[in-house]
Amino acid sequence: MSATIIDGKAIAAGLRAQAAEDAARFAAERGRKAGLAVVLVGNDPASEVYVASKVKLTRETGMESFGHRLPAETSEADLLSLVARLNADESVDGILVQLPLPGHIDSGRIIEAIDPRKDVDGLHPENAGRLMNGLQGLVPCTPLGSMILVESAVPDISGLNAVVLGRSVLVGKPVGQLLLAANATVTMAHSRTADLPALCRNADILVAAVGRPEMVRGDWIKPGAVVIDVGINRLAPEPGREKGRLVGDVAFAEAVDVAGAITPVPGGVGPMTIACLLKNTLTAARRRAGG
Ligand code: NDP
Repeated sequence: MSATIIDGKAIAAGLRAQAAEDAARFAAERGRKAGLAVVLVGNDPASEVYVASKVKLTRETGMESFGHRLPAETSEADLLSLVARLNADESVDGILVQLPLPGHIDSGRIIEAIDPRKDVDGLHPENAGRLMNGLQGLVPCTPLGSMILVESAVPDISGLNAVVLGRSVLVGKPVGQLLLAANATVTMAHSRTADLPALCRNADILVAAVGRPEMVRGDWIKPGAVVIDVGINRLAPEPGREKGRLVGDVAFAEAVDVAGAITPVPGGVGPMTIACLLKNTLTAARRRAGG
């Protein structure tokens, strides 16, 4: 049996199309476009690529994109004062500070300085608390995208066993909260968890967010399970190649024979993250406008 491939690219394209409709309606009703400010400190090559595609897709969706590029030696105080200016700027609905920040800046302090209503990355402790308490807030983009993919494969999650591999603030913990809110029975696993393969074999829904290439083997997976692979890992290049292959945290070729549905890497969770950033920006814009 071969699993259904969950097409993150197609689902993300649908979300972006919806975001474009919402952006046009917002602009028509409010007389201004919804706006996303993206702050990049330094010149980490991967961050530059992410930021460039966020800016491009924000504009294509019909929103205003405000880019702020700061040199790597920017002080924490200067970054805090930029965040304060963006918080006060009425044309800015969402603020995204690209992580990681240079080592001399405390990311936690920067995230806490963002107005939670503009925190489209959903990382402010107030938004994390709101998610935990079942209150309206902004949900981190990758977990939100992962959850939309789970729901595309299993319409009724209630009562299913879900195992989340990884407990980061960015991915694992919020994914666990979203699954719990959908009435799954959730087990959070991490680097100290005993007998991961046995635990995973019990999962109707398995979300892998560990950052270990192809760690989850085919025989860890319960037949018919829904597998969401959040991991993005680049392998060492093969001889004669400049770049190594991108793989997830799941050994796809093995898992596809056992799972009921599975996300590929690339083309699974990855495209959902930016689509959910656009969705969150419009959500923030509507709420700030009182809609
Ligand atoms: P972190 O490094 O912050 O967290 C990794 C988690 O995995 C930790 O909780 C860690 O446990 C756990 N872990 C590490 N090794 C093992 C192991 N051998 N067995 C069990 N658990 C283990 O990573 P992130 O959550 O930020 O990211 C995870 C993956 O998702 C990465 O590959 C990243 O590139 C990818 N990612 C993809 C995104 C997308 O858009 N698709 C966006 C964000 C991330 P412990 O807490 O005990 O240390």
